[in-house]
Amino acid sequence: MGKFDDLRKDFPMLERQVNNKPFIYLNSAATTLKPRQVVEAMDTYYYTYGGTINRGVDSVGYEATLAYEAVRTQVAEFIGAKDPNTIVFTRGTTTSINMIASSFGELIIEAGDEIVVCLSEHHANYIPWQQLAKRKGAKLILAPLNDFGGVTPEGLQSVLSAKTKIVGLHHISNVLGSHNDVKRLAELTHEVGAYFVVDGAQGIVHEAVDVTDMDCDFYAFSAHKMVGPTGVGVLYGKAELLAKMPPTEFGGEMNHIVDIYDTSFKDAPHKFEAGTMMIAEVIGMGAAISYIEAIGIQAIHDHVSALREYAVEQLKQVANIEIYNEHNHSSGIITYNHIGIHPHDAATVYDREGISMRSGHHCAQPLLTWLHQPATLRMSLYLYNNKADVDQWIVAAKQADSFLDALF
Ligand code: PMP
Repeated sequence: MGKFDDLRKDFPMLERQVNNKPFIYLNSAATTLKPRQVVEAMDTYYYTYGGTINRGVDSVGYEATLAYEAVRTQVAEFIGAKDPNTIVFTRGTTTSINMIASSFGELIIEAGDEIVVCLSEHHANYIPWQQLAKRKGAKLILAPLNDFGGVTPEGLQSVLSAKTKIVGLHHISNVLGSHNDVKRLAELTHEVGAYFVVDGAQGIVHEAVDVTDMDCDFYAFSAHKMVGPTGVGVLYGKAELLAKMPPTEFGGEMNHIVDIYDTSFKDAPHKFEAGTMMIAEVIGMGAAISYIEAIGIQAIHDHVSALREYAVEQLKQVANIEIYNEHNHSSGIITYNHIGIHPHDAATVYDREGISMRSGHHCAQPLLTWLHQPATLRMSLYLYNNKADVDQWIVAAKQADSFLDALF
């Protein structure tokens, strides 16, 4: 048994059945399964040192504070950030990007300014900028997409100007798996004096990230896409930018002195972490990073991309299939349709076979408009998938084709 097959035992959900069939999970771009190690780390917090953090003087609370703050240092090292205080814990990518837009964006955007995004952004990296532009009388500018659904340096350059203030782009897209050269895009953005925000929700999963080398201004991601718990994620921001940004929430533990008519706030990251934080989830995210690092990001990437290549070749043998991202090898995502069949109908056939997959617009409606599709199927692979999963998926794809062909 190979190393990756061996890891399957860490994921208890793989032992269950769905519709009386062995469960096959092909929806990791939505959220990944969690290994025992992550759940156990959270259990240990709740069972042995489940106090609150950064307040009071009790020993249990102190232990919890140490564990929580140790994850901040761990995340900083994981993404190549030099200073742990540039790591803000948030509810996830969505919250991180909304915080940037409503704090930093509010601060710097004025009427007539331009904010650049592209059509293949997840709604989490589209609507906050669209709404900020509307509030401020600024313009939302679309960087042109290349054939793969990504943005090339030339494409970005064609829309940059002295009016550009913020560029917000994905590292890896959640629908097409397109990969942006974010380092080069950040460089071009800085040449016109603008700030570069990376939606790293999928990028962090599939390659080693070094925010210092990338020189992005902000990088956002979620733990649940990388074997961590839901409800926790990260906002990385350059120290000098976080220092300027006003908090977006007010409450306990984010302030120094609260006078009757004014308040002084703590420095970043604490001024952004108001109220009781998701302590167990932060600790779970630390365990998730340890789990991934023990395997190695590059090894995971190689495993997933080899499996994806195999899956694409198999899918091409099935009749009446249209694949929208055949050549995007950076992630485990394959986006496709059974021609003439609505993806929700097709997904029902896969589900009957115990296969969990996504169908719909994948929270990227502007991109689906670009693809001229109302919806698609999306299968996505991760470290616990193997060839047998792909083979079962192909059996279901053939069934979907013949079953639905007879129906419609
Ligand atoms: N951006 C991308 C590229 C994503 O894939 C996702 C999750 N589907 C998000 C943003 C939003 O992440 P979350 O729901 O964890 O906030």
